[in-house]
Amino acid sequence: MQVKTLTVGQLFTNCYLVACPHTQQAAIIDPGDEAHRILSAAHAAQWKITHILLTHAHFDHIGAASALVDATAASLFLHPDDKLLFDVGGGAMLFDFPSPEVPQQVELLTEGQKLHVGEIAFQVLHTPGHSPGSVCFYAPEHRAIFVGDVLFADGIGRTDLPGGDYTTLMRSIRRLMELPDDTAVYPGHGPATTIGRERTENPWLSEND
Ligand SMILES: [Zn+2]
Ligand SMILES: [Zn+2]
Repeated sequence: MQVKTLTVGQLFTNCYLVACPHTQQAAIIDPGDEAHRILSAAHAAQWKITHILLTHAHFDHIGAASALVDATAASLFLHPDDKLLFDVGGGAMLFDFPSPEVPQQVELLTEGQKLHVGEIAFQVLHTPGHSPGSVCFYAPEHRAIFVGDVLFADGIGRTDLPGGDYTTLMRSIRRLMELPDDTAVYPGHGPATTIGRERTENPWLSEND
């Protein structure tokens, strides 16, 4: 599995390109902005985009979705509990940002669903709390998980936006903490980390919580 990280847009969102080296097929996770940069990165690596995956529908994660669906003809995937948020442009107006155009055609994700990107198998984990339809894309054979804004290096997702809930978020994070320590964690903002590091170092996850 090959991972390229592009930090895009005004909120420095991590957009991940994840490719299967055997088939050159790839997924785009969270195309927040800068469609042209994301496309040229895929093109330079000679990857064919088969999936566009959204960890959740906040505007800083979906801004380039429409342009990339048009350019690649790949299917776009989102959890239904974030569909309302998606249809109103991901809450951009709350931050005085222009609302992105969003595609009409969306495939709805379910808890436990398997997605195959070339030979990479992703498992969908529904991890609400930051937003109602937040999901993580877990590739157990590659010891990697893409968590959106659920968990960060030394941090957790904010829960003060519409549909956010702290207790629900902590329950979701505790579920992630059951994964193997050496699982690489790719968050929606900031540096990558591991489950083991966050279990011991993350100030929000002290054992006697
Ligand atoms: Zn978010
Ligand atoms: Zn974000």
